[in-house]
Amino acid sequence: MRFVADAHLGGLAHLLRMMGFDTLYDNHFEDSEIERIAAHEGRIVLTRDRELLKRRGITHGCYVRAIKSTPQVREIFSRLDLARSARPFSLCLDCNVPLQRVAREAVAERVPPAVLERHDRFVTCDRCRRVFWEGSHWRCMRALVDELVGAG
Ligand SMILES: [Zn+2]
Repeated sequence: MRFVADAHLGGLAHLLRMMGFDTLYDNHFEDSEIERIAAHEGRIVLTRDRELLKRRGITHGCYVRAIKSTPQVREIFSRLDLARSARPFSLCLDCNVPLQRVAREAVAERVPPAVLERHDRFVTCDRCRRVFWEGSHWRCMRALVDELVGAG
């Protein structure tokens, strides 16, 4: 299941990426662009704008009721039954591309020495070239991830 989020749903887009769902988002997306992407790539449109969902090219849309991103991702998970297909921490949150596992030696020059010492599982994004490790950016999101996966 792949998504395109409208310009107001950046927080939700990031949380869906965190859970491993391919979600396009750009805060400059025009309605016509979202319609084109949805039709062309078979993506589900996520929006809080009912008018957008009336466009002819949008066959699969989901009106998001919640206002804030955490309740929004809970809502989408439960309505679309996403828990079983979630793959947490498999996509770059900024680039929406799959993260690749990399060997510890390969990242030796790109992470702080203390991190290198304490961790042995690293992933990298081929687009932005950043390196991630467990416990870095995602620690604070762990509780939400566990809740979302467990909810199914
Ligand atoms: Zn990236």
